Amino acid sequence: MKIRLKNALVLPRAGGEIFRGEVQIEDGKIVYAGKQNDRMFFPADREKDCGGNLLIPGFCNAHAHSAMTLFRGVADDLPLQEWLFDRIFPLEDHLTEEDVYWGTMLAAAEYVRGGVTAAADMYFFPAVAAEVLRRSGIAVALCSGDNDVGGGDVKESLAYMQSRYNTYKGKRRLKYIIGLHAEYTCSDALLEGVADLAATLGAPTYIHCAETLKEVGECSVRRSLTPVEYLHKIGFFDEGGIIAHGTYLDKNDIALLADKNITVASNPSSNLKLASGVAPICSLLKNGVAVALGTDGAASNNALSMFREMYLMSCLQKERMKDAAAVPAEEALRAATETGYKALGFDGGEIAVGRDADLALIDLNAPCMQPLSDIGKSLVYSADTSAVLMTVAGGHIAYENGRFDIGETPEDIYKNAAKCVKRLLKEAERGK
Ligand SMILES: [Zn+2]
Repeated sequence: MKIRLKNALVLPRAGGEIFRGEVQIEDGKIVYAGKQNDRMFFPADREKDCGGNLLIPGFCNAHAHSAMTLFRGVADDLPLQEWLFDRIFPLEDHLTEEDVYWGTMLAAAEYVRGGVTAAADMYFFPAVAAEVLRRSGIAVALCSGDNDVGGGDVKESLAYMQSRYNTYKGKRRLKYIIGLHAEYTCSDALLEGVADLAATLGAPTYIHCAETLKEVGECSVRRSLTPVEYLHKIGFFDEGGIIAHGTYLDKNDIALLADKNITVASNPSSNLKLASGVAPICSLLKNGVAVALGTDGAASNNALSMFREMYLMSCLQKERMKDAAAVPAEEALRAATETGYKALGFDGGEIAVGRDADLALIDLNAPCMQPLSDIGKSLVYSADTSAVLMTVAGGHIAYENGRFDIGETPEDIYKNAAKCVKRLLKEAERGK
């Protein structure tokens, strides 16, 4: 499929210079990005006049539990422990493949409505989620969120992870990242087993880490080590990877993460809403730790909007550092685009020849973007998902002016998601 997106302003990458021109796409790749060039690339299967609006690299949601859209609004205004153990886990006990299908479909709709073209998805029934997100064109890294808090066979878990890893190995826009839910929900045998598996496969790992003060405090009492120190010690970080949250990290933790080239996938809105805290983004960046952005699940934050995460990432650091210059807009945009892509190992995050065709068209005629004094700043400080006119994921036009092309209609998605959550609430209530 050849697509020509002409008459656009193009922001090629975070902090890059905006130019007037066009982007041409062939078989999911960007084959031209530059000045208007009518002599090239004819005939296109689809030619779109962008009306002078802004093409930007698509967003990478570096930490999500996509199908948790089902639990949006069912457990709000609760402390984290109560939220997780009393509300979310009992609901998740009854999840079926069909629930994950419709929950992930709902997430896919929200992603493409908001310019998201890549995601790290940690949830149950990953093969179902992979199939759903593939239909929208989104590049997906399935992340193992295994734990053995309620028992489980370590050998079996590791064998499952290895087989999943091998199943998806070598695929261009779909991969499996081995890892675990968190230090506090896993036995030492499982944690050490995954560290060994990472070494065997030469594969990076993924884990929730240092999300709350309680987690860090309890780990420090049990082990006389912070979660980062412990994971570093057992070799969990030896092949690189990602930690989600990283809200409470001291100087030594940050040095260890930098040493092992670990990316922190920060989730500012989830951390705020669950009253977990504010991550030390400035210290991480200053010490050479890459920071990507994620939304976390919609049960905790409650939207899959990368615009909101960028805004909060920047503004919370300004307050934390008492410095309005801290984490400028382009730094937040970089976290939401190229840093996430790099951490997940996907080939996007910028509009350049040879990259995957992952981009979003932003409405410059939206009130929140006017006047066009500094488009890059407005993108972070005043825009929201309503300014997205079109999302192209892997060369597939997944969303355009209110129309979705993701494999199901919004009407069917909403109807079925509502049905699933109704049944789950009933079963969780009965199971008490
Ligand atoms: Zn999470």
